[in-house]
Amino acid sequence: MRLATAEINLTALEHNLAQVKRFAPNSKVMAVLKANAYGHGLVTIAQHLNEADAFAVARIDEALALRAGGLTKPIVLLEGFFHQEDLPILLANNFQTIIHDEIQLKMLESVQLDAPLNCWLKINTGMHRLGIAPEQFDMFYQRLQASPNAQNKINLMTHFACADDVKNTKTVQQITLFDNLTQEVQQAHCLSNSAGIIAWPSGHGDWVRPGLMLYGVSPMANHTGKDHQLKPVMRLTTKVIAVRDVRAHEKVGYGGRWQSDKPTVLAVVALGYGDGYPRHAKEGTPVIINGHRYGIVGSVAMDMITLDIGNNEHNVQVGDEVIMWGPELPVEEIAQCADTISYELLCNITPRVSYEYQR
Ligand SMILES: *Cc1c(COP(=O)(O)O)cnc(C)c1O
Repeated sequence: MRLATAEINLTALEHNLAQVKRFAPNSKVMAVLKANAYGHGLVTIAQHLNEADAFAVARIDEALALRAGGLTKPIVLLEGFFHQEDLPILLANNFQTIIHDEIQLKMLESVQLDAPLNCWLKINTGMHRLGIAPEQFDMFYQRLQASPNAQNKINLMTHFACADDVKNTKTVQQITLFDNLTQEVQQAHCLSNSAGIIAWPSGHGDWVRPGLMLYGVSPMANHTGKDHQLKPVMRLTTKVIAVRDVRAHEKVGYGGRWQSDKPTVLAVVALGYGDGYPRHAKEGTPVIINGHRYGIVGSVAMDMITLDIGNNEHNVQVGDEVIMWGPELPVEEIAQCADTISYELLCNITPRVSYEYQR
């Protein structure tokens, strides 16, 4: 019996990329594939994003895994490089690098390379995580222009801190600061993550960097992918492995955290935090069996979760499929029940889960 399974819908993935292009028709697309393509499987996801112009990842190892998988599109390293010895590897593999700090600039200036690298200068416009200060822009730009190790075409990037909140004026401030700073130089601009693509058209620029929305999930507070005509790519399922009666006040599971005040039926399903399901999912977090919703009760364990299925009027049986999230049950809703964000739930899928790619 196939237990914890992540079904990955590649047609939905392609649809979501097309939807990115409908939101930002004049921008090139750098598809963000970090963290195993948000838990969806790095290489297979990349293989089905033919219409993307480039890929972006956080770490060099992720980029090398894409090359080992036969992917040939340009790859942007969103944190850049960490050691001078990385630079020839970047050049040999057609990786483009962020420059976000003077340490990186100095390493780039002092290395011997056979050809110049394609660089993205990252400017901190208000996220205060990575990026050079706005007042350092001219200095960095000129030194990159002067370095034989950087291509003359120096791309410019910034990252939004609050784009998922349409009422927050911070994003407009970030766009304005970036535009004012960079208007003199004729170079490619890249500002928007998924939330920027969906909610802030003035920040679309020459390139966009969608991550979450490619997987059919909404980055916006209190929305699901469907609100933006996106289709969830992952359906996480497992099976019922036991159906049992419990008497009133029998304490169920670790710590005896839950009991029913009347006799009821429990379904035990084979999936837990060892598969990446959030242990903090609260009582009542929904799952779907045969089209009906049930709520989880008791503690989420490593391998199992219990559901209260009442008098079992819909005749749940051992072997029935259980949908933990997917098109029928938005992962955004499960994230809310677990006090987290959908990004974390998707990335947390563990290697024990089997992947099934479908069209
Ligand atoms: C992860 C990341 C993205 C993608 O963000 P989403 O919200 O998933 O679209 C874009 N840019 C940078 C710098 C990132 O780190």
